[in-house]
Amino acid sequence: MSASPLLDVRNVWQRFGGLVANSDVNLQVAAGEIVGLIGPNGAGKSTLFNVIAGLRPPTEGSVWFDGQDVTRLSAPERCARGIGRTFQVVKSFDSMTVADNVIVGALVRTSSTKEARKKAEEVLEFAGLGHRAEVFANELTPPEKRRLEVARALATEPKLLLLDEVMTGLTPSEARAGVELVRAVRAKGVAVLMVEHVMEIVMPLVDRAVVLNLGAVLAEGKPADVVRDERVISAYLGD
Ligand code: ADP
Ligand code: MG
Repeated sequence: MSASPLLDVRNVWQRFGGLVANSDVNLQVAAGEIVGLIGPNGAGKSTLFNVIAGLRPPTEGSVWFDGQDVTRLSAPERCARGIGRTFQVVKSFDSMTVADNVIVGALVRTSSTKEARKKAEEVLEFAGLGHRAEVFANELTPPEKRRLEVARALATEPKLLLLDEVMTGLTPSEARAGVELVRAVRAKGVAVLMVEHVMEIVMPLVDRAVVLNLGAVLAEGKPADVVRDERVISAYLGD
């Protein structure tokens, strides 16, 4: 990895009362890299995402982005710096059209609604939703809603896209299409940090995998090495 990563999570702890959700986590993502954050349910993946995106400050530790300490910046401020995210629970605005949902994202970069509309059209086309632009978001199928989440995040022109379980609940062919979309995102030069529960989906896609277990980094490295790691295998078997 290059000397200065795009994202640098340093010694992050997150405590909820007596519960340690993140325990001294260190994690880096280089520009243009796809990193998979995996681990069993309750491992602390979404908590770490919230720390990175700025939804909740860590109890201890810091988050650096693009060479700057962003630990104390709000989520919108981080979005403006180039951290885009989707949510595990889809947060699209159901009573708005698909296009308007994405325009909300594009307005992070411009105050011109005309420009935002143009950006939204471009991003929806890219995400395979061009033909659904004018329907209401609640008319979308579940996989289309995931695409909408990605499109809205992309409209903010992120340098790093955080994807929280975007493949969950998809059929194998929908998941394959999702994988292609993530590859296309990276081809644009956007780095991706993706949380996925399903290893078979993430492993062929990512450059590097980081495994969280009980809040701490259990293993990290090339996907092929990580899946063979005894500690990873026993964590997934609920040892
Ligand atoms: P994952 O996304 O890996 O499934 P989470 O980050 O959602 O795991 O949760 C990690 C642990 O932290 C769990 O034990 C969860 O119950 C706990 N937790 C998460 N958010 C909160 C919160 N806001 N308050 C208290 N406990 C929380
Ligand atoms: Mg989660």
